[in-house]
Amino acid sequence: DAEINEDLKQILLWADEIRTLGVRTNADTPADASLARELGAEGIGLCRTEHMFFGEDRIPVVREMIMAEDEKTRKKALKKLLPMQKEDFLGIFRSMEGLPVTIRLLDPPLHEFLPDKEELDAKLRELEASGDCGKIEEVKKLIQRVTSLKELNPMLGHRGCRLGITYPEIYNMQVRAIMEAACELANEGVKVIPEIMIPLVGLVKELSVTREDVRKMAETVMAEKGVKIDYKVGTMIELPRAAITADQIAKEADFFSFGTNDLTQTTFGFSRDDVSKFVPIYQKAGILEHDPFAVLDQEGVGEIMKIGIEKARSVKPDLKMGICGEHGGEPRSICFAHEIGLDYVSCSPYRVPIARLVAAQSTIRMKNKK
Ligand code: PEP
Ligand code: MG
Repeated sequence: DAEINEDLKQILLWADEIRTLGVRTNADTPADASLARELGAEGIGLCRTEHMFFGEDRIPVVREMIMAEDEKTRKKALKKLLPMQKEDFLGIFRSMEGLPVTIRLLDPPLHEFLPDKEELDAKLRELEASGDCGKIEEVKKLIQRVTSLKELNPMLGHRGCRLGITYPEIYNMQVRAIMEAACELANEGVKVIPEIMIPLVGLVKELSVTREDVRKMAETVMAEKGVKIDYKVGTMIELPRAAITADQIAKEADFFSFGTNDLTQTTFGFSRDDVSKFVPIYQKAGILEHDPFAVLDQEGVGEIMKIGIEKARSVKPDLKMGICGEHGGEPRSICFAHEIGLDYVSCSPYRVPIARLVAAQSTIRMKNKK
């Protein structure tokens, strides 16, 4: 329930007057975006587009696209997805009514989109028993493709900008959808501030190549629609290498957003998916005080963030930087993000009020320290 009582509303308004740290939300749907706005979010800091691909009507097309071995088939599937993506972004832009919206291009662990191999194996056995030769070859081909796409370590594998660089037509479709939606709304007089974000960048060239593709597509769409949109292209900083080379990366970016979920995974070398198997034991044994995926590890991950911020500001003093990992909604981590100089935090809608309060508290504490 998004209802906030009147007293709390007043306290939150006072907090807003005090705080200097921005509070945005992580939202992938217009419903979440509207809810977060009611709770005081000042924009979307992370719209994860992969969730949009899981709808019942979409997953068969998404599979068709991922399983395609040739560009032509992939493009055909993407053509079917384009109007659906455009609707997604129209909805999100409308619900944010002129506030900045950071849309992250596709970043799925690829296996989540693949057909189930065991189901395919069972189907093959069934067909072999019935002697349906035509279909047998078809299923065998599918099994081959799934096997070739399957990864041992999907969270460290073919995801983020790596996928965008291997299959540029996927990001092209998404950028077209974002820009068509933005241009159409601008032509209706609705203000839109799209910020296109590239995930899992570790090498500056990953960003420069992708950014150039984004720019070309954005220019094409704006020329088609006869309108100019003030869009930005930025990157997630979620790999230690990105933070350590942030001076190079900053030159190619209009903004940074620290993805501390992946940054925690890659700094500790702890798999995000398997952490529950040993972190609680580490906590009991006093090896770790907190689960580092819940409370930001200031000594390790935090130090890497500081390096990233310092290096980026050495070349672009005004570069806008935020945090959109789970830590962006956790009080101790919010204070830390503020102290090291980030401009905003982005968290799930229900954490927005807490983030507003903590941001004010942190502003007061920092003033008192001076
Ligand atoms: C992150 O890595 O912190 C992040 C926000 O992205 P995701 O959780 O989607 O990988
Ligand atoms: Mg991430």
